[in-house]
Order: sequence, then structure tokens, then C-alpha cells
Amino acid sequence: MNKKERERYRKRLLKKKEEIIDKISETYSESKEVESGIAQDVVDKAESSYTKEFLLSLSDTEREQLFLIDEALKRIDKGEFAVCQMCQKNIGKKRLDAIPWTPYCIDCQEKEEEKSS
Ligand SMILES: [Zn+2]
Repeated sequence: MNKKERERYRKRLLKKKEEIIDKISETYSESKEVESGIAQDVVDKAESSYTKEFLLSLSDTEREQLFLIDEALKRIDKGEFAVCQMCQKNIGKKRLDAIPWTPYCIDCQEKEEEKSS
């Protein structure tokens, strides 16, 4: 995969990540206002609980997706993007276009689904 293609996938991943975060922060911003009166010395603590609460406010699917997107972005940086994390084969382009954050090739994904069903 050349650099241009990698950057294209990176953009798609970042955009997807933004979409998820935007969607959640809309609902979450209301409760953030409640916290705005807290003293400065607990701000750090509040920041971390904010992150935690934020993550908790995500549905399992969204949390999972954010995680997978982050992992995929890391793989782009390492130059390992489009390599199946199970069998190390290249993931098909069609599959990457449909689900750019997927860590597995179609064969391994099917095996995983068989296991969990
Ligand atoms: Zn595989």
C-alpha cells in the first residue's frame, strides 16, 4: 500500500472517529455544565473522571469502534495497516473500503464469529 492510499484511509478513520465523538458530546455537554463550578485543585481529577464518564456514556458498539479506529491509526503509523492481526496476510481492499478499522481479514473474521456464536 502506498503513502497516498494510507493517507486516504487515515482521513477516513479520523473522520469516523470525529463522528462518533461529536454524536456523544452533544448528549454529554449538558452534564459537563454541572461540573463547571468545581474548584481548580480538583480539576485534574475531574478531567480524568470526565474521560471515564465519557467512555461510559458510549454504547458498547461505539466504544469498540473507537478502540478499533485508534488501533488502525496506530497501524498506519507503524506501516502495518491492511495486515490481518491474526494470520498476517493482507486484508482485501474491498473489505478495507467497507470497514477501514477492521483488524482481521475476512477469513479470520468469519472464524471469530463462528467461535462467538
Ligand atoms: Zn486473517
